[in-house]
Amino acid sequence: MPLQLFDTWTRSVREFTPLKPGEVGLYTCGPTVYDYQHIGNYRTFLFEDGLKRVLKLNGYRVNHVMNITDVGHLVSDGDDGEDKMEKGSRRTGKSAWDIAALYTESFVGDLKALGIEFPTTLCKATDNIPEQIAFVQEIEKKGYSYRTSDGIYFDTSKQASYGYLGRLDIAGLQAGARVDLGEKKNATDYALWKFSTPDEKRQMEWDSPWGRGFPGWHIECSAMAHRYLGEYFDIHCGGEDHITVHHPNEISQTEAAYGTRLANFWMHGYFLITNDAKMSKSSGEFLRVQLLLGKGYDPIAYRYLCLTAHYRTQMNFSWEALDAAQTGLARLRTAVHALGEPTTPDAAFVARLIDILNEDLNFPQALALMHEALKSDLPAPVKKATLLKFDEAFGLGLAIWVPLVVEAPAAVRAIADARWAARNAKDWAEADRLRGELTALGWAMKDGKEGYALGKG
Ligand code: AMP
Ligand code: ZN
Repeated sequence: MPLQLFDTWTRSVREFTPLKPGEVGLYTCGPTVYDYQHIGNYRTFLFEDGLKRVLKLNGYRVNHVMNITDVGHLVSDGDDGEDKMEKGSRRTGKSAWDIAALYTESFVGDLKALGIEFPTTLCKATDNIPEQIAFVQEIEKKGYSYRTSDGIYFDTSKQASYGYLGRLDIAGLQAGARVDLGEKKNATDYALWKFSTPDEKRQMEWDSPWGRGFPGWHIECSAMAHRYLGEYFDIHCGGEDHITVHHPNEISQTEAAYGTRLANFWMHGYFLITNDAKMSKSSGEFLRVQLLLGKGYDPIAYRYLCLTAHYRTQMNFSWEALDAAQTGLARLRTAVHALGEPTTPDAAFVARLIDILNEDLNFPQALALMHEALKSDLPAPVKKATLLKFDEAFGLGLAIWVPLVVEAPAAVRAIADARWAARNAKDWAEADRLRGELTALGWAMKDGKEGYALGKG
């Protein structure tokens, strides 16, 4: 079956055909680096990584661009409030530039830990200031901007199609915002360029034809997408929160400057929520990849957990679910490892996998197929090759996983063997006594069905 993807633009699943044969241009909105990313953010990045992997399984080369938002994202999704970077700088006592570097580095580390493939181009907003200024000039030239006392704004009333992606009720929004519009002409207008104010000393600011200041948040994506992918490319992704503000604004800018709606497909990952509430960085309570590691979880277990829910449904996070994912992953790893050397994948299973994934990335069903393949009576080398092929889509790193072997000294192994024998003979008192001996020597023994494992206790 040819690849079918859900396009938020049309609100329907439709067949994907690349604009250029064999190659896919993909833009994904990246992190705002004023703080660590939480595992909710990574749910979106994992969905995008899954999309990339499925595109590759379909034989496409993927030119993937992701931005790093290191300036201009204001605390409110409107255009007021502080820049998140300047706020982060105050919170940490470090410069805005230093925290951008710190959280970008942490982001890159998390991508590796989660097995997320690196984008072809990872670009920073602050490295693309001239491009953003030129883009705003283009919008100005086409007559879509106006000036207020605090910046240059996009006039959304000039575009009949504005907000189509979000199916926005423009009249309703306008009526609701009448009182606090300020100098903005329309409720949905947004800043293209903001002026530095005389009373604040911004750490990140640049000269522009309109005065010293900094770019609005939305212009960076339009400008970098244009620079690296051109006026019209295949797929643009982000989290579901972008459907109503950020992405309609990106589209309006590119439409004003170049007459295209930026991307052929618009895809959105649905949120990770906790106890049915949205997980967000600004709420101050969020789970980081490092925190999972600190609690003894493998980040890949989180990846596995994300595969169990379709990207177009919200997923509620719970520790029980993560425990179950960690156990499921451990079983899968051990079983795949035990299959020995791979030969050639089973063509029928691979074809079924691609069919399932080509139905709008149905990873939960693909995971079920993986377990079916594991239980099948395929010969071990073929089964192994099949599962490794599957893992090109899942990204669980099954090909490189090896069991952690702790070499115990012979004396320790002898006690463990004796305890195993006592346990099998149901001599519980002796088994407990020998466990005590192991503990005293600093070893822990874990009983399995077929045998035991020894670890440093
Ligand atoms: P930000 O760092 O806030 O710019 O967000 C980076 C990406 O994470 C964006 O694509 C957001 O839409 C997405 N995102 C934010 N919160 C969540 C969440 N709770 N679950 C899934 N994705 C999220
Ligand atoms: Zn964006």
